[in-house]
Amino acid sequence: MEKNRKIYMDYAASTPLDEEVFNAMVPYFMDDFANPSSNHFWGQRAQGAVDGARETVASILNVKPEEIIFTGCGTESDNLALRGAALRNRERTGANRILISPVEHHAITETAQQLCKHFGFQLDFLSVDEYGRVDPEEVKASLRPDTAIVSIIFANNEIGSINPIEDIAFICREKDILFHTDAVQAAAHLKIDLKEIPVDLLSIGAHKFYGPKGIGCLFVRGGTDILPIITGGSQEFGLRAGTPNVPYIVGLAEAYKLVVDNFKNRENELQRLRDYAIDNVLANIPRSKITGHPKDRLSNHASFVFENIDANLLLMMLDTAGFACSSGSACKVGESKPSEVLTAIGLSQTWSRGSLRVTLGKNTTQEEVEKLLETLPGLIDCIRKKRY
Ligand SMILES: *Cc1c(COP(=O)(O)O)cnc(C)c1O
Repeated sequence: MEKNRKIYMDYAASTPLDEEVFNAMVPYFMDDFANPSSNHFWGQRAQGAVDGARETVASILNVKPEEIIFTGCGTESDNLALRGAALRNRERTGANRILISPVEHHAITETAQQLCKHFGFQLDFLSVDEYGRVDPEEVKASLRPDTAIVSIIFANNEIGSINPIEDIAFICREKDILFHTDAVQAAAHLKIDLKEIPVDLLSIGAHKFYGPKGIGCLFVRGGTDILPIITGGSQEFGLRAGTPNVPYIVGLAEAYKLVVDNFKNRENELQRLRDYAIDNVLANIPRSKITGHPKDRLSNHASFVFENIDANLLLMMLDTAGFACSSGSACKVGESKPSEVLTAIGLSQTWSRGSLRVTLGKNTTQEEVEKLLETLPGLIDCIRKKRY
């Protein structure tokens, strides 16, 4: 039985709910179920829970509670930030250009493409280095008065690299250009102090840090004028209509608090396991490369490419062998379009087709990593020799 246990190594895709988070959420499904907008006793209890959650998130990020907007997920936060800022800013100032990196999550790229194709915005892309990082100097040179918003991912979901977000934020601030960062991966592993980092908008999603799926939040710095994308009631300071999802909001705050409280204990161990996995793969698998920065990357994130390997086939074989990993991109089985991120960092198709993302979490053990490292070289060899 033990031998056949499945090993989960896809924490960048989602994480299991923390039991403490679940327990914190439970009362708000049935006991304190009321609508926080209701003025009666029950309503006020629900409102109290939402207020408490907002204060928790705000204090972690070192911002004001009214700068935190709860949303339906990380994707919705990205949509609200980009679409809300672009539309409102153009209305106010005429600025008609959106500037993003080529390694954004689809929540940003697809939103930017829509704003470009259907709403008449000009969309420009920055470049990235071989590790998938944006150069602040290039941002500085690329800003123009007609730039409505700049959006750059904090830490990349596919290749783990961390961008110099603080430097970029200062550059945008200096030129008075709105700056958003997608911190959905970053928030799970990095201490983010928004008194130090002058971003205007920052997206977070709970299920990447042991919180529930279907809940996120957007930091909107005081004075930043954005248009709501979901209209209706005046919830969330008029920026996100709809009765708030009280238990999930409570869950997001509890999960965020727990994950940040555990950074000290967890991050060093994750990094040690990550480096162990990276060093071992590169040493033992011929024609293998790490993707993303070797050190300046998410502590739980190991990502690779293997020459002449079909990533989907490798994932299927890993799954059969009991390992849940990812290719890193949203590319579906049978669809072998190369990842935009791997193309942007300059990999040719013979390499980019063979991507593997191994992301570790709080339940990952040394033994599990060793099992993967024992299995992987043989699978790669089988695929290259077409023995499967
Ligand atoms: C997961 C993820 C998202 C989307 O968040 P959801 O809550 O799943 O919608 C956005 N950006 C990044 C970088 C992510 O990793």
